[in-house]
Amino acid sequence: MGYFVLAFYILQEIEEPYREIKRWKRFLESLDAMGRIYLNEGGINAQMSVSEGDSESFYDWLFESYPGTDVKVHYYKEHAFPKMTVKYREQLAAMDRPFDLSMGGEHISSEKWAKMIEERDEDTIILDVRNDYEWEVGHFEGTEKPEFNTFREFPKYIEELKEKRDPKRTKVMMYCTGGIRCELYSCLVKEQGFEKVYQLDGGIIKYGQEEGNKHWKGNLFVFDDRLVVPINDDEENEVISQCHHCQTKTDTYYNCANMDCNKLFLSCLCCAEKMKGCCSNECIEAPRRRPFEVTKTPKPFRKLPFEEKAAFKPR
Ligand SMILES: [Zn+2]
Ligand SMILES: [Zn+2]
Repeated sequence: MGYFVLAFYILQEIEEPYREIKRWKRFLESLDAMGRIYLNEGGINAQMSVSEGDSESFYDWLFESYPGTDVKVHYYKEHAFPKMTVKYREQLAAMDRPFDLSMGGEHISSEKWAKMIEERDEDTIILDVRNDYEWEVGHFEGTEKPEFNTFREFPKYIEELKEKRDPKRTKVMMYCTGGIRCELYSCLVKEQGFEKVYQLDGGIIKYGQEEGNKHWKGNLFVFDDRLVVPINDDEENEVISQCHHCQTKTDTYYNCANMDCNKLFLSCLCCAEKMKGCCSNECIEAPRRRPFEVTKTPKPFRKLPFEEKAAFKPR
């Protein structure tokens, strides 16, 4: 008996989010489910895992309230999250202002996306709107990692792009993990005057299930205990990233064992052991160092939740 790891978002008005949170909590308590579910007036962003046995009850319940929700599913041997969190969050996807989503880019199916990559010309750019550490372990071929680190820097990046590229002619193809970031970022790109803006529907997760490794290099970073997964369950992917210490190919992430650092970095098992799970020599000497356990699949260390530390900071 295994688990299903689910990713979905719902972008529609929720009149009483606190009441909805209570309802979700109450229902989820009755299931063998773990995850991270954020709600506000503008919608829901959810990543969770549910036991095979309870998955049907969950689907029935979800689709009754939110018919047509596009749920991305992976199979996994255990829960992908350590606990269940359902809470109100100001920003569903680390954006600091609301958008009219009808102004976003055109949704592109996986199949069409693959075709667009094949047929791309010099007027086409493929924009990865994820973080560096996500991009590093896997991305679409021909993607440059645009230089912006936070959501606040993104408008400036697009402004600069406008100087280099004709916003009327340029086709902007955008993608992210599950699609929600593109819903929002694509509004911004259009606001800045780009007319041909496309977003990969359902993100990399859905693409991997439908098209496999086609035009994709490496693996996929996910914000749960699995950390890095192949984009298709039936295909192993080539590792494209390197150990931070010795440059051996690896896509295993560790949180630095120095609790005051906790930096997420790539390391081979050998260096991880030698460095006692630390990112640098200074961190090995640090006073608050966790004991390092040798494991082939390290889990994220959550005392300082890296996804929240690393995520876009609004101010
Ligand atoms: Zn190494
Ligand atoms: Zn460190």
